[in-house]
Amino acid sequence: MDSQSDDAPDVTELTPPDRTLMGPGPSDVHPRVLGAMSTPLVGHLDPSFVEIMNEVQELLRYAFRTDNRWTIPVSGTGSAAMEAAIGNVVEPGETMLVPTNGYFGGRMASMARRAGGEVVEVDAPWGEPLDPADVEDALSTHEPDVFGFVHAETSTGVLQPDVPALTEAAHDSGALVIADTVTSLGGVELRVDEWGIDVAYSGPQKCLSCPPGASPLTLSDEAMEKVLAREELPRSWYLDLSLLEGYWGDERSYHHTAPITNVYAIREALRLVAEEGIEARWARHERLARALKAGVEGMGLEMNAPDEYWLPSLNAVRVPDGVDDGSVCAELLDRYDLEIAGGLGDLSGEIFRIGCMGYSARPKNVIFAVTALGDVLESMGADVDPDAGVREARAALR
Ligand SMILES: *Cc1c(COP(=O)(O)O)cnc(C)c1O
Repeated sequence: MDSQSDDAPDVTELTPPDRTLMGPGPSDVHPRVLGAMSTPLVGHLDPSFVEIMNEVQELLRYAFRTDNRWTIPVSGTGSAAMEAAIGNVVEPGETMLVPTNGYFGGRMASMARRAGGEVVEVDAPWGEPLDPADVEDALSTHEPDVFGFVHAETSTGVLQPDVPALTEAAHDSGALVIADTVTSLGGVELRVDEWGIDVAYSGPQKCLSCPPGASPLTLSDEAMEKVLAREELPRSWYLDLSLLEGYWGDERSYHHTAPITNVYAIREALRLVAEEGIEARWARHERLARALKAGVEGMGLEMNAPDEYWLPSLNAVRVPDGVDDGSVCAELLDRYDLEIAGGLGDLSGEIFRIGCMGYSARPKNVIFAVTALGDVLESMGADVDPDAGVREARAALR
């Protein structure tokens, strides 16, 4: 019989490779955010931390373009904010309408079912946005209590255009709207109040240049009233917004220990958003992603999404004939320390997913990604012109 060894594990000092992160998230972290994370810890009820909490809430409202009082960072990754939204807003026996046009609509459905909800679907193929007419049809057929949609589908590189058309239709039929803004907050135009979004959740490690750990969530007064009037408690104690309200609201009483270092991180990340200006930041993402797009198109590749719903923060590029997407990604990581990703689900094997988010949305990263991708594809025998790609990317940046 084996007995446990008395030798302590001999694990070497942490030396992660120096990657450039241009996949579907996480993105490169801004050095100021890393700096904020190495500042001293204070207690989660320390008066100085209460001040920091207020600042984070104010900065989040700015980034979301909302006046919602109920705007907080949820402890955990984007999925925690997602589950906080769905698990609190959807009550057992209620119906939630979700989209089928990407991976994250499927995750919404799983969460709604676990919350005790019935799920109905509005269909669109992977790689396309929802058609407002189809949403209207589904709303009138199923009369859901809640309608969820994904503003920026990271699995397909599709930006849902004309959000107000969807929210108006939902409100006309009496449904509350939950928007997944994980890959849009701080990266592409998003106006929670003006667009009539009732609940939006996001993540810090996409367009906010911040490590995962504390995830943005905002709810309108009307949505929060629904949550506070629930007959049955939400199934998660940890994500119960009526309890979290005690900590993030006026009381400031203990619920769980906030991930203090992650709150520091998102505070600094959001300060960077405020310094740059939210609209300037959207414009930067668009300009840098346009150069990336010019580069991949210039070398002879095709974008998966047409311009009307191209998502600048996540570029879905068709995999050219004769190469395997997984091998290309592995080679980029191995030779260039560059992370991009392949496709998921219905688009598995068909697209590369190249993020252009936050601190990764810089000329340096774009030129590097275009150069490395062209080189690796050419070396694997794809019919591409790497030099033309770099030339087009450079021209787009001038
Ligand atoms: C990344 C992502 C999520 C989930 O966030 P995690 O931080 O991985 O939990 C949800 N929705 C979209 C659109 C995403 O891109």
